Amino acid sequence: MKVIQNLVPASKYAIKCPYSMTPQFVVIHNTANDASAEAEISYMIRNDNEVSYHYAVDDLGVVQGIPENRNGWHAGDGGNGKGNRYGIAIEICYSKSGGPKFEAAERNAAALTADILRRHGWGVNKVFKHQDFSGKYCPHRTLDRGWSRYLDMVKAALSAGSASGQARELAVGDTVTVKPSATTYATDQCIPDWVKGKTDTVAQIDGDRVLLKGIYSWVRRADIKE
Ligand SMILES: [Zn+2]
Repeated sequence: MKVIQNLVPASKYAIKCPYSMTPQFVVIHNTANDASAEAEISYMIRNDNEVSYHYAVDDLGVVQGIPENRNGWHAGDGGNGKGNRYGIAIEICYSKSGGPKFEAAERNAAALTADILRRHGWGVNKVFKHQDFSGKYCPHRTLDRGWSRYLDMVKAALSAGSASGQARELAVGDTVTVKPSATTYATDQCIPDWVKGKTDTVAQIDGDRVLLKGIYSWVRRADIKE
């Protein structure tokens, strides 16, 4: 995924992204205007409002304004709000008028969402909407068109990405080790201690899940190392 970076200068961190952050999920927004992603990010950087977001996405691609390890002000849940302090914010452009440009922006946003999930080893249950944190009806047009439809687009992008080998180069037959830090299987059941640190063989790969031959269980990609 091609991402153009136009990052907030450190001199504006105090206004735009004052806290360091270990992100925990993605928060989806609609801009409610008809500006491009480039314009959306440069406006965000230029003004002195405590309003900020990590990515803006339009029909042409992705522009990043804040690094993923700093917080943004987007979720409307206050200075210590979970959304503001742990969410990676994506603004989908052209939502005011909608139409083909918005629809293309939404597809690109789904691809970006999938890319973030893959990089952090997260599943689709880590995708939230602004509305979840403050009750605001945002992402308005994405909600109008169907939230589960958006999540389906993310799931499709996730499997397309792994099918094309865009993720990590991992293949059936590879020898991998279960990280000692792993806690649950991809099925959410607890990983017993004897499995942690165990070396095993990849039997099957499905998106961000890997079936290990010896223990015959699905583990998350993020929980194994090659
Ligand atoms: Zn929003």
